[in-house]
Amino acid sequence: MTNKLKYFIGNWKMFGDLASFKIISKINTYISKNNYINKKKIVICVPNILINFFVKKLKKKSISIGAQNCHHHEASGPFTGSVNASMLKKVGSEYIILGHSENRKEGESPKLIEKKIESSLNQKLNVIYCIGETSHEKKRGKTYSIIRKQIKECIKKSFNKKRIMIAYEPIWCIGSNKIPNINELKYIIKYIKISYKKIFKTKNFPKVLYGGSVNGKNVKLLSNVNEIDGFLIGSASQSSKKFIDIIKNYYK
Ligand code: PEP
Repeated sequence: MTNKLKYFIGNWKMFGDLASFKIISKINTYISKNNYINKKKIVICVPNILINFFVKKLKKKSISIGAQNCHHHEASGPFTGSVNASMLKKVGSEYIILGHSENRKEGESPKLIEKKIESSLNQKLNVIYCIGETSHEKKRGKTYSIIRKQIKECIKKSFNKKRIMIAYEPIWCIGSNKIPNINELKYIIKYIKISYKKIFKTKNFPKVLYGGSVNGKNVKLLSNVNEIDGFLIGSASQSSKKFIDIIKNYYK
């Protein structure tokens, strides 16, 4: 078992209502009772409408609440239906997922993602920046060049790197019940850390999460990759039992 701080970050996607607080509450109870796993950070990224309600209901703060996207514009303005980073921060969000492949698919450009990262960092939100290749790119042997490109094109040298972590989410693994070959994954995570440090000339390696079909069964296998600093968990985070199983089995 490792002593390094591990992140377990839930991405609820378009899921949940006020009653879904029971999921957060059960996870919170588990975390509070099991302090043997004190080297971990739990974050649940929920729809914007639930952020403030959940933050207020969580009395003992062993879980942080995050958002899943924002508008790139920093000030208020004529952007119907949009929410910016400052609004998310004010209602209690501490983290934000940006560059998720589901949003890139909807037309989010690298330039737009860069602006979103910048405005979120200005609000002192912790950014979880998602990168990852499609199955087509993987088959063509493009994994490494794609992830290097995605790192370079959305993160400016001037950004505060302390608040950025990378989530490696191969698109072919999201919601597919597939995970990468473990040895390959180890190389990719190392490659992300080394490239990032070289590109931005940082003193430390970035934190790198793995995301894509993580569940209570495959997490033990994934735990063999020491370089992984934690997990971005999609559908399994919508169930307290499945999310707790991931944490439990990771530390087993
Ligand atoms: C995600 O969409 O960020 C994700 C990891 O999804 P899933 O765990 O459902 O594959």
